[in-house]
Amino acid sequence: MDFKLMEEQIALQKKAREFAVNEVLPVAQKYDESEEFPLPVIKKAWEIGLLNLGIPKQYGGPGYGLMDACIVVEEISSACPGIATSIFDNNLGAEPIVIGGNEEQKQRILGELTNEFKLIAFATSEPTMGSDVAGMKCRAEQDGDEYILNGNKFWITNGGHANYVTVFATTDPEKKHKGIAAFIVDTKSEGVRLGKHIPKLGQRASNTVSVGLKDVRIPKENVLAKPGRGFVLAMQTFAHTRPAIGAFAVGCARSAMEYSIDYAKKREAFGRPIEKYQMIQEKIANMYKDIEAARLLTYRAAWEADQGKDNNLSSAIAKAFASDVAMNVTTEAIQIFGGYGYLRTYPVEKLFRDAKLYQIYEGTSEVQRIIISRFVLNRYEHAMPYLAKKRD
Ligand SMILES: Cc1cc2nc3c(=O)[nH]c(=O)nc-3n(C[C@H](O)[C@H](O)[C@H](O)COP(=O)(O)OP(=O)(O)OC[C@H]3O[C@@H](n4cnc5c(N)ncnc54)[C@H](O)[C@@H]3O)c2cc1C
Repeated sequence: MDFKLMEEQIALQKKAREFAVNEVLPVAQKYDESEEFPLPVIKKAWEIGLLNLGIPKQYGGPGYGLMDACIVVEEISSACPGIATSIFDNNLGAEPIVIGGNEEQKQRILGELTNEFKLIAFATSEPTMGSDVAGMKCRAEQDGDEYILNGNKFWITNGGHANYVTVFATTDPEKKHKGIAAFIVDTKSEGVRLGKHIPKLGQRASNTVSVGLKDVRIPKENVLAKPGRGFVLAMQTFAHTRPAIGAFAVGCARSAMEYSIDYAKKREAFGRPIEKYQMIQEKIANMYKDIEAARLLTYRAAWEADQGKDNNLSSAIAKAFASDVAMNVTTEAIQIFGGYGYLRTYPVEKLFRDAKLYQIYEGTSEVQRIIISRFVLNRYEHAMPYLAKKRD
């Protein structure tokens, strides 16, 4: 066991932190208020090699492992969770191609994403379906070697600015997961309609839109997963991206804790700085211990993926735990700031709004608990004798 980061990872952390402090933090509030898409910041991330983190070297990417990606996104998220979501979305959009694409698709699409500044989004969700991925209704009708897509995708991050969207659609909704296929959709194709930005509670710098598909013809070369393979591909993608959501949540919580420490040292009540009161100390101790635990769970889930292990369970644990930590820590941060925490004057109000999304996207906290409970109730092996045996 070794809990230390490698030298290259420490250097990567430093680079990401500099980017976060110099390029993201100064504009975080501006983009939160305007809900404008932070295109210049994302472009800058691409220029310095912090976009497309998971694209392998042979396709022009940096070839970072998931552990490295988690280190990067914790830093960016600590400056602005919304901008971090926008930056990491290229990973989410490209991951199905990295995992399931054929060699030609990898050369063409991943090569394009690294050679030029291009955005790729990911779309499983629909207006009437998010958690129940197998229940999607967007249709894919086969026509020779090609497919024709019809339907609506909803809540698509970066969708309004994306050049490509990896779209999951079904050949027959009755077939549930067995009917789901995946496609690379060029957003300039006839029949693709990118909706207007949908205003949100938090993470306002991330663009969220609907994507309408009307008789969109998908050429053979853009079929990513045949019917029956798409559902597995979506789940494999989530197992690779959920640890990063854990890292986002850690970054968000870390900043809320740091602001709380600063404030508790300065703010006086009853003649002393509030840091001197045990109830405030307890809050800060809980923040720190929970953030440490969330980071370790996140690293473990990322490490398992990098080792080629099945990390479905560990990524569910990391995402659920870290998301709750971000929500709890940002809530307690507001409490430490008292009335000022409730105002827009200090950044903890924004982090509180931003944190909520972690419990919702890429599989809600309930969905993660379904994955965990399925394992514990059906596959977990007891260390001690079974209760019934003990009674005998
Ligand atoms: C800002 C934002 C960005 C997003 N970006 C993307 C994106 O880029 N691409 C994409 O495809 N999607 C995206 N999503 C969609 C997101 O993944 C879904 O919102 C999420 O999966 C939940 O689906 P839903 O909203 O339909 O909720 P529902 O599935 O309708 O769930 C509603 C509630 O019921 C609970 N629930 C559902 N089923 C069960 C069950 N079996 N047991 C217990 N509780 C249950 C849920 O946990 C939730 O609390 C985004 C969403 C948001 C808000």
